[in-house]
Formats: sequence, structure tokens, C-alpha cells
Amino acid sequence: MIVSNEQIAEHWGEAPERCWRCGYKSGLEQCHIVPASLGGGDSADNLVLLCGRCHNEAPNHQDPQYLWRWLRATRTESTDTYWTIRGWEEFEVMFGRKPLSCFTDAGDLTTECRELAADEFAKTVDRFGEGLNPSTIACMIAEVEKKLAQRHGITLPDAA
Ligand SMILES: [Zn+2]
Repeated sequence: MIVSNEQIAEHWGEAPERCWRCGYKSGLEQCHIVPASLGGGDSADNLVLLCGRCHNEAPNHQDPQYLWRWLRATRTESTDTYWTIRGWEEFEVMFGRKPLSCFTDAGDLTTECRELAADEFAKTVDRFGEGLNPSTIACMIAEVEKKLAQRHGITLPDAA
């Protein structure tokens, strides 16, 4: 690499150790604002720091305004929750309802869900060590719901 992550961060006044979009610390990559194949250079003024997952989702367009528009519109201020929230949204798309919508009378399930989720990582894999993608997180939520349903004697609408 010709330019260091620190130089890119300094150029834009951003942090060098976290993804500028989701806030995760894993595997930062240098992302071209204007893609190299469309004439974008390898200097700090054409690079931002994104994790692999965000890099995959970033716009690849010759007009740099779109990268910035996307980054401003989708970046999160709260670190370490971005992909979990995306997983919850993906669950809603896959199952047609919000996660835990069947457990409204069961009280606060936060602790129980965390405990059950801890066992679910073994059933998943994160490609390239990038962290779980939203659809995989949605699957974990579905598995946690199944266990919760058993414990609380609730029948899920999509139970097979
Ligand atoms: Zn990211």
C-alpha cells in the first residue's frame, strides 16, 4: 500500500481504527471513492476506510458524491450494534414479522436472548473473517426464537 490508513484518516479527519460506516474494528480496507477502474487514484483524497462488509456494499460509481451520500445516510454513531440491527431488519424481510413479536407477554428477554445467542455462533461461519452478514444474523435470531418458544410454551407462526 502506498498510502497508510493513518494518512487517509488524517486527510479526512476521521478515525484510523474503525470502519467509518459501521464502526466495527475488524479488517479495515482502503476503499476507493472513485473506483480505480474508472480512473480513481490511490491517494488519500480518493480513499476511505471501511470494513470488508461495508466495502462490499459501498457504491462503485465514477461520481464521488454517491459514496459520500451513501456514507452519510447509512453510517452509525453507535459502534458494535450496526450489524445486529441489520440482522433484525433481515429477519423481518425473511419472516414477515419483527423478531420476538410473539413474546410480547414474556417480559424482558434481553439476558435470556444473549445467553441463547452465545450457543448459536457454532452453527454459523463468517466469510473471510468479516463478521456475520445480516441474513446469517437473522438465522441466529430464528434459532434463538425457537429455543425461547420451547421454554415459554409459545408456538411460533412459522414453526415447521
Ligand atoms: Zn463497516
